Amino acid sequence: MRRRSFLKIAGLGVAAGAIPIARALGRASSTQAAPGAATGKRWAMVIDEQKCLTKQGCTACVQACNKFHNIPAIPDPRHEIKWIWKERHENVFKEAVTPYTPAEVKERPTVVLCNHCDNPPCVRVCPTQATFKRPDGIVMMDEHRCIGCRYCMTGCPYGARSFNFVDPRPYIHGEPVDYPTRTTGVVEKCTFCAERLGVGKRPLCVEACEGTGCGAIVFGDLGDPNSAVSAIVRSHQELVRRRPEIGTSPHVFYIL
Ligand code: SF4
Repeated sequence: MRRRSFLKIAGLGVAAGAIPIARALGRASSTQAAPGAATGKRWAMVIDEQKCLTKQGCTACVQACNKFHNIPAIPDPRHEIKWIWKERHENVFKEAVTPYTPAEVKERPTVVLCNHCDNPPCVRVCPTQATFKRPDGIVMMDEHRCIGCRYCMTGCPYGARSFNFVDPRPYIHGEPVDYPTRTTGVVEKCTFCAERLGVGKRPLCVEACEGTGCGAIVFGDLGDPNSAVSAIVRSHQELVRRRPEIGTSPHVFYIL
């Protein structure tokens, strides 16, 4: 990082009281994988909407993510924090819905999360580099460096980010688990379970979905031609991504 860029970021961070900036910068620039970590050239996910429908009302992926990331259950929808959730199909794929789309398709609950875009506008607009893209494609969020400006939320065309308008800690159900809780004034979102990949595990939502027998969510390395996710992407010409026309290049794919 050039000295001028460093000083600019450091200045913004200190102005906002983001003290652990040196540590945060170190974390962002580190590309060394720990022993036992799952490594990939380009992590990606495929969600099979049809398979997901086989278990009506299932929210195993959402529940697992919420529990193990200490995501608060805030009753006021304006203050909700969401990493992965279900949304009506017609809201997720607006451009694909026509006046002839059957009502049951429009109403389908579709799993949504951060798309870990190749060209993420959220990263471009963040003034402190609190959000950044790793070499393996994961778009990360460092809450220590977040100054709460919410430019990233405006930049994200998918509504994949949440802001802590209120202290989230009183709204965590049950005992907090061993994952950092957040505080008022910072943005958060899905990280493709980077902490689990770091110890050789797969994302929680994938494991939870498999546990129900649906197997609707597949995760893996698109850079590895032998991975399950590569095989699906190769064999399904009809795979879709959300809003491809805007050039963000999402890395969450859907089989509709
Ligand atoms: Fe950023 Fe939104 Fe893309 Fe996630 S989905 S990488 S938050 S632009």
